[in-house]
Amino acid sequence: MRPYPIKCVSIVIPVYNEEQSLPELLRRTEAACLQLQHEFEIILVDDGSRDDSAQILQDAAEREGSPVVAVILNRNYGQHAAIMAGFEQCKGDVIITLDADLQNPPEEIPRMVAQAELGYDVVATVRSNRQDSAWRRWPSRLINLAVQRSTGVAMSDYGCMLRAYRRTIVDAMLACRERSTFIPILANSFARHTTEILVEHAEREHGESKYSPMRLINLMFDLITCMTTTPLRLLSILGFSMAALGALFALMLIVLRLIFGATWAGNGSFVLFAVLFVFTGGQFIGMGLLGEYLGRMYSDVRARPRFFIEKVLRSQPASPAPVVTVDGLTSTVSDQVSP
Ligand code: UDP
Ligand code: MG
Repeated sequence: MRPYPIKCVSIVIPVYNEEQSLPELLRRTEAACLQLQHEFEIILVDDGSRDDSAQILQDAAEREGSPVVAVILNRNYGQHAAIMAGFEQCKGDVIITLDADLQNPPEEIPRMVAQAELGYDVVATVRSNRQDSAWRRWPSRLINLAVQRSTGVAMSDYGCMLRAYRRTIVDAMLACRERSTFIPILANSFARHTTEILVEHAEREHGESKYSPMRLINLMFDLITCMTTTPLRLLSILGFSMAALGALFALMLIVLRLIFGATWAGNGSFVLFAVLFVFTGGQFIGMGLLGEYLGRMYSDVRARPRFFIEKVLRSQPASPAPVVTVDGLTSTVSDQVSP
């Protein structure tokens, strides 16, 4: 891993109805950024707030010499879409995302930049003392486990949005045209070196969480479909096991019927169960098969870049040999000389 030279740091913050938190957020974020040895910009994306947030952001951006850039979306698109909009406008070599509700302390920014400077593509954070209710903590623990299993990237806290990304990672994410996405996981699918640091987590002081149970469920589905199509495959696996168990059950019934006679077998009523299992299993297999096609279509439709080239290095020949290209066949001029 090589040190990564940083000129400019961008902070991207999605804002949805956070008028009460904004003054303190702006003050603390600016103070934290002034500790940096780098240029910086603070991009606040108003995600269609219904309160005064957009006006506050506009005023902050219009102050003379203000590092604040206000991006105003025309309606509410959701936290992750808002962050993407911010990514599109930022110019930093390192981009840091955080929440507007001050649950993630902006004072951690210099530490994260220092880590990114060491050469990490993604610097994630783990909430040392998570201040959310238990019904928010448990699902997120389960999800973290599932993510670790399926992406292979060991990260312990996907819910914490305080993260730093290197420019190339953000560019790769911007090249993904999919509509619903979960940024921390998408980023990890492009990252090589990742690290985690422990940060404090505060309780929300103003307003309420913007995630109702329904929106949380939606977010969870975004997260799962963003990372994997395994649930579709589970259908086939379930079908296979069900059909196999049904067949075994039928076999067992036949054997026991031969040993113990017709009365034991309840005059064939158990056979119905065996047949039912086999057929239901068959249906699941069919559904899983459809799912496999659907999964492949989904990954083609969302058209994520297949790879992302960081740079191409080649040695330049002293005087490049002239190249003749005929119908896609390439040869140097010296090849063309006839004997
Ligand atoms: N947010 C947003 N659009 C939304 C919902 C939330 O931009 O539709 C922002 C919100 O202003 C905050 C961040 O996303 O800055 C996280 O939201 P919240 O604190 O409500 O989520 P929680 O901490 O409860 O997971
Ligand atoms: Mg929050």
